[in-house]
Amino acid sequence: MGEKSVKNTFPVFDTLKKVFGFQSFRPNQEEIIQSILDGKDVFAVMPTGGGKSLCYQLPAKIMKGTAVVISPLISLMKDQVDAAVENGISAAFINSSLTSKETASVFHSLRNNSLDLLYIAPERFAMPNFIETLKAVPISLFAIDEAHCISEWGHDFRPDYLSLSNITETFPQVPVAAFTATATQRVQNDIISKTGLRSPFTVRASFNRGNLFYRVESKQELMTQVLDILRKYAGEPGIIYRTTRDSVAAMADMLTESGIKALPYHAGLSQEERKKNQEAFNRDEVHVMTATIAFGMGIDKSNVRFVIHADLPKNIEGYYQETGRSGRDGGPAECVLFFGRGDIPKIKYFIDQTPDDRERAVAMEKLNQMVKYASHNVCRRRQLLEYFGEDYKDENCGACDICTGTVDKIDVTTDARIFMSAMSRTGQRFGIMHIIDIVTGADSKRIRELEHDKIKTYGAGRDKDKHHWRFIADELLAQDVISQDGDRYPVLKLTEKGKRALFGSENISALKREGPKKKQRAARGGAFESYDKVLFEKLRVLRKGLADEQKVPPFIIFSDKTLHEMCRRYPASLPEMAGISGVGNAKLERYGEDFIRSIKTYLNENPDISVPAEYSYDNPAKPADKIKGETIEKTYALFSQGMSVEEIARARNLAQSTITGHIEQLIMDGRGLDIDRLIEPQKREDIGKLFLTLQSWQLTPVIEHFKGTVSYEEAKLVRVCMRRGHG
Ligand code: ADP
Ligand code: MG
Repeated sequence: MGEKSVKNTFPVFDTLKKVFGFQSFRPNQEEIIQSILDGKDVFAVMPTGGGKSLCYQLPAKIMKGTAVVISPLISLMKDQVDAAVENGISAAFINSSLTSKETASVFHSLRNNSLDLLYIAPERFAMPNFIETLKAVPISLFAIDEAHCISEWGHDFRPDYLSLSNITETFPQVPVAAFTATATQRVQNDIISKTGLRSPFTVRASFNRGNLFYRVESKQELMTQVLDILRKYAGEPGIIYRTTRDSVAAMADMLTESGIKALPYHAGLSQEERKKNQEAFNRDEVHVMTATIAFGMGIDKSNVRFVIHADLPKNIEGYYQETGRSGRDGGPAECVLFFGRGDIPKIKYFIDQTPDDRERAVAMEKLNQMVKYASHNVCRRRQLLEYFGEDYKDENCGACDICTGTVDKIDVTTDARIFMSAMSRTGQRFGIMHIIDIVTGADSKRIRELEHDKIKTYGAGRDKDKHHWRFIADELLAQDVISQDGDRYPVLKLTEKGKRALFGSENISALKREGPKKKQRAARGGAFESYDKVLFEKLRVLRKGLADEQKVPPFIIFSDKTLHEMCRRYPASLPEMAGISGVGNAKLERYGEDFIRSIKTYLNENPDISVPAEYSYDNPAKPADKIKGETIEKTYALFSQGMSVEEIARARNLAQSTITGHIEQLIMDGRGLDIDRLIEPQKREDIGKLFLTLQSWQLTPVIEHFKGTVSYEEAKLVRVCMRRGHG
């Protein structure tokens, strides 16, 4: 190895300019390249867009033999090879997309020693004759791209990558360079030990992406907020991430209707369609890609100007990766997260399904960190970088909403002092819950025994609830004003900053938290003035079901015009429903419940649509809801007496679906019902599993899957049970 493996004296800089057309190296590239040329192994963590490809492509061009690149991204190989060939590098790839004839031709070139660069998928390494072929030709280096895939500790483990274990033993003469954009210390150790890298030259580049502006907006009127951003970037490419396939599809439709060139991308689309959409985006034929995180690895588009997260991501790793897809060209780009607390329970729900205790705890912890990122008055960049173990020095990053002061803040100094004073007066020996008990004046045995009801701050904050004080505690922790000490029973301590804040003049502020907004949809102008088309589709399906049940045409139930009005006003109670034109008393009694329930379910699934607090499920019935409450109580009484849904419907002269609706509401309200009487446990379990597999609450796919053996009502029942945690 060493210098004799360099096939010409073409200096590295010359190659950079003449082959790649770049004027200078990006951070770390030169050192990495030099190490490879010296025959040393390399381990490099560089952020997305950091320029990892060049680190192996440049040596591939100037070293003797073929550089073999292992990459999991089959879809990208062709692009990378095409780009390399454009640059005059002799490159090819082998993966499952090639015909056997094409594969044979690549092998031919390989054996002829005429390839600088060969991309392969990892599973090749499990094939003994492939290894034999490689042994028979001169190999300049192995580059393992996305190397974190070899680690079970990473977020992207791929069993195929295990075939790379001990690659250094199989090819002791060849330098191996491993690259990744995400690796915690643990993953790093794992990669190095699995591949057997020999004291590699190690780079951990800063994860700071200085050209990205980070911002969090409170999720209120999501579509309007998104459109505002899109207007600003008229025609420039961007990605909108959403959690579910449904919401991706709906968002793409709505954008299209607003005249924006947008396409969806999610795992529910055919491979072909996904490919087509991705290509259209790459070629700038559409501007906005609305996607689940299935759209991810393999986007090399360099001019993405914004990444919007319309739903809360599960963890910071994911968030960082996804935002990292913007501004690869080094130009300014913006990353906006729409944060609504309604997203938290949805993620928690899925985390709860994780069977492994440890995994579940880790996932929860990661979610908490994500929430912290969104909710606390701490530089976003600092939080991201600290998450990756980087110590960010700048007081003001100048490129996030916190540092540029473009967020609304409130002063919480008084509350912070009350909290810290309670900590201080009890000797900094207690945990969060206990301090909250003190400030809220809890009357507990423990408080009395410790005589904490005697201290000055006891009850000083009883005018605010525990959630508020929890928020204050979290804020102080996030701002490093207080810290937690000890693993099992963490106690709160004042930091230096905390002492200054408690005894000095330093003020503490927090981000302003939005309360629920007043209903204003009907009056809204703009693209969605007409009506909520997604909801309309749902109500239409409901109407069809009811019409079929009664063998009448749908318009007999409600006209389109009436549905449109519902899709503008979101009536969520009987009196409100009665106010919709076309809903008379008879129809109100017969169908009101069904439509209200459907609207509520919809609002529940789309917390971005603001729901006035008085209509939410969590609130006890208001006078306005009284009629409804009574009718539900009747159902409850009859059901408790042992009557079936069918019998209740007959007895009350109401549609069965109305009664099922009552039952669902009762379950939603946490009333004890014998669910086994409604649906067999085995069936319930099967349906439940399918929901989890589909990762969507949509009913139609479930109905379709069971080919008629599961009814709409049954699927709905299981769904509501799962949501209430009766899984
Ligand atoms: P990643 O680290 O994410 O794999 P890439 O290798 O895809 O990043 O590089 C990202 C972009 O940066 C590409 O468009 C690439 O051509 C460009 N790039 C890489 N190195 C340099 C450089 N030294 N000067 C200018 N652009 C570069
Ligand atoms: Mg790459």
